[in-house]
Amino acid sequence: MKQPTVFRQSRRAAIERSLLRLFDILLAVSVLVILSPLLLLALPGTRWVQTPMRGRHGRLFGLLSLVVPTGKRGLVLRVMGVDTLPLVLNILAGDMAWVGPRALRPTETVPEPFATARLAVKPGLFSLWRLRQLTLIDFASEWETDLEQIQGQSFGGDIALLLRNLLASFYGKPVTAAGDSPLLIDTLRVSSVTLDDTLALIERKLAAPAQDFLQLCFVNPDCVNIARRNARYRNIVNRAGLVVPDGIGMRIAGNILQTPFRQNVNGTDLFPRLCARLAGSGARLFLLGGQPGVAAATAGWIAQHYPHLAIAGTHHGYYDKAAEAEVLADIRASKADVLLVAMGAPQQEIWIDQHGRDCGVQVAMGVGGLFDFYAGRIPRAPLWLRELGLEWSWRLYQEPARLWRRYLVGNVSFLLAVWLQRWLGSLDMRQLAAEPTAPPTGQSSRRALVLVTSASSTDWPLQSDMTPVLLPLGDRPLLYRTMESLAGLGCHQVDVFASQELSGIRSLLGSGERWGLQIKLHGVRDDDDGWRRMALTPLASDEQVWVHRADHWLPAAALKDAAHDVLWCQADEHGKLQWSGWARSGRRNLANCLASCRNNEPAAAALSTLLAAPLHDSPYRYDSAVAMLAAQQRWLTRPAGRFELLAEQGAGIRVAASARIEAGAVLTAPVEIGDGAFVAASARVGPFVVLGTGTRIEAGVTIENSLVADGVCLKGAMQIGAAVVTGAGLYHCAHRVWLPAGCTGNLLAPAAAPAPAAVDLTERLLALLMLAAAALPVLLLKMAGLAGDFAQRVYPQLPAVLRGRRALIGVGNPATIPESIKAAGWSEQLQQAPQGLITPREALAVRDPDAAAWADVHWLLHHSWPQRLRLLRAYMRSVCLS
Ligand code: UDP
Repeated sequence: MKQPTVFRQSRRAAIERSLLRLFDILLAVSVLVILSPLLLLALPGTRWVQTPMRGRHGRLFGLLSLVVPTGKRGLVLRVMGVDTLPLVLNILAGDMAWVGPRALRPTETVPEPFATARLAVKPGLFSLWRLRQLTLIDFASEWETDLEQIQGQSFGGDIALLLRNLLASFYGKPVTAAGDSPLLIDTLRVSSVTLDDTLALIERKLAAPAQDFLQLCFVNPDCVNIARRNARYRNIVNRAGLVVPDGIGMRIAGNILQTPFRQNVNGTDLFPRLCARLAGSGARLFLLGGQPGVAAATAGWIAQHYPHLAIAGTHHGYYDKAAEAEVLADIRASKADVLLVAMGAPQQEIWIDQHGRDCGVQVAMGVGGLFDFYAGRIPRAPLWLRELGLEWSWRLYQEPARLWRRYLVGNVSFLLAVWLQRWLGSLDMRQLAAEPTAPPTGQSSRRALVLVTSASSTDWPLQSDMTPVLLPLGDRPLLYRTMESLAGLGCHQVDVFASQELSGIRSLLGSGERWGLQIKLHGVRDDDDGWRRMALTPLASDEQVWVHRADHWLPAAALKDAAHDVLWCQADEHGKLQWSGWARSGRRNLANCLASCRNNEPAAAALSTLLAAPLHDSPYRYDSAVAMLAAQQRWLTRPAGRFELLAEQGAGIRVAASARIEAGAVLTAPVEIGDGAFVAASARVGPFVVLGTGTRIEAGVTIENSLVADGVCLKGAMQIGAAVVTGAGLYHCAHRVWLPAGCTGNLLAPAAAPAPAAVDLTERLLALLMLAAAALPVLLLKMAGLAGDFAQRVYPQLPAVLRGRRALIGVGNPATIPESIKAAGWSEQLQQAPQGLITPREALAVRDPDAAAWADVHWLLHHSWPQRLRLLRAYMRSVCLS
């Protein structure tokens, strides 16, 4: 370590010290004069205290402060910083300076070799350490940073440091107690780690067995914006071994979400430290990306600064697809351990996901424009700008044409998304925050076979404009969720087998680009044919295959030929086994299942066949496979219609008639529950659940976006809190209404409905607020050509709400009232109700005209302010996510 030198003793330094003292006094007097009225007002009821501290040369002094009273007044005083104001007197007295390392507690000792230099200067209020803590770039220790400040001290430098401190105070207080659990920023799960933690993890990975692989992702606001649009990138990042917050935007996001990150772990600061740690360790580094010559120049920089670090090789990032195999072979042959890919997000992360494991490296990370900095192609922002968290403005200045949209529009949309996330609270967040499914290791390619065919007309046909709630099985949301899940599981190719509506499915799925998948659609004649075709689909020996969703009995013979090791069993109401998607079982677990299927002949037979088939003995992944089998086995041998259900998201499940869904069950996937089922309290049902006729649901069950079939059909994407369904009908606790069995879609007799909501003053105020707050974002979005429904349609009409001509939230266009509404006698109410700029159908994305009108009826019955806000949030969210 460099030996610290004591503060310069030259004449010039002495003059600068005198100037600084003069500056301290002048500023302290000015502050006192300006703030003295405040101090005088604050004095009654406050108490002066002196806290012993150590100053220059270790001398003790009393740090002055005010103990303000508790309660509102005290809070105001504390927020205004009045409690610390007496510290100005310490500065006047010469115990402290405005700028200097913090004052030490009497018991605190400074470690060697820093003590001499550290104690030779006056403590101060604003320090370099504080500044770097504010912008989360406190990578060196406090003592090292203090020393850097002391050694660079000058009159001008101190003033600049003071100004930087004041500006950086915008980011809040220094982060002292950051959490270490990952934080969800919009759709990405980002870890709160330090640069040192990151380096330590990389070292651990390098010391681990060779097949261990770590993908490290740096996430900045631009990445968060990309992830919102790009499901493939989002899935890759959320699966990565470590995702770190990069840049000041993430610091601000952490502040907004009240969970600050520990450090700003960016690639450019990590890189030299990584080089230092790996130098001499034997680890080999490969640099891929950047323009021709840039990676090689970066290697030159490494060779100059870290001569003991082994460079395995370099390659530029602008090669043809045709040359990919060659590049991969180069990296493999180089025997590199760590791979840095500099191609920009999301390309680099996708590249690593696709090829990282095949390259034979143990650690791979996407580093964006890092090589450009170290190769000297683009100068990095000066330190003072980085200390202010304004590195992005420097990059914008360097490459305005390329980066204006990323920073000017992107930063605003990022902040809006984070604010929205905070505003939306926990909505959807738990689901997103759930631990991601780690992809299986050691598999070079993952592929899924999906059977989306059924002879049953209730399950099919699929129509692109049908609402989720009316078609909970075999429909667009199911297919989309399936594809999203498969992409999330790391699949690259999906073979879809379908017997009907091929063109509909093709138009829905396309070639799979939106999920980053390659989708191949196969037309099959019927189920048996479908399975046969699936079984005969040629698979490479190293391919991992998932099979998703088959609604019908799978012949045991087909199983025998199938090379698939992923199956999920359940019984239909006739006691026959069905095989369906989403579970992965190894031989051992299937053997356990067999043991528990003694009284269930079909299950036992099928399992025996399965066990005889050439299965990979892969580790068991999902609890639900075994749990489903066990539950099914219990059901088949049940004494009297009791059935425990354990379902998990993404599972296409049909529960037999008279099933009993136990308390605590969570049915969030496409689930169809047979007639007469019973759902116990505290179960969560929906979205996309069908409940059959006569389903009984205890109070306290949450039903969301689901279909209560036959007789009590509630159309529209409604949230029905606390509902009870009995054989006789449905009792809706929130509305206190009974829906007698057989009254299709009728929530309440129209006469009993409350008067339509008028456009009231509060709604006008809300419109005014929105007009003011959204002016700049709307302008920016329009300039960037990103204006969506809100900017284009809703915003220009807000003045009409102000004038009371339109409601902000209200029913849809009455010209399109469907027959079912007219028949139920609701059309008059709908025609009289104020039309909204934002309607329930838009907020809840209901497209079916029938369901949309029923959503309006629901709104008329339920136009409370909480409901209004809920719809507004849902609308804003759908706008932001689209
Ligand atoms: N790049 C590349 N191949 C490509 C596209 C980009 O190697 O096909 C390089 C480009 O030369 C630049 C980096 O990827 O060095 C992208 O840097 P960017 O500024 O977009 O990333 P950031 O640092 O902002 O993450």
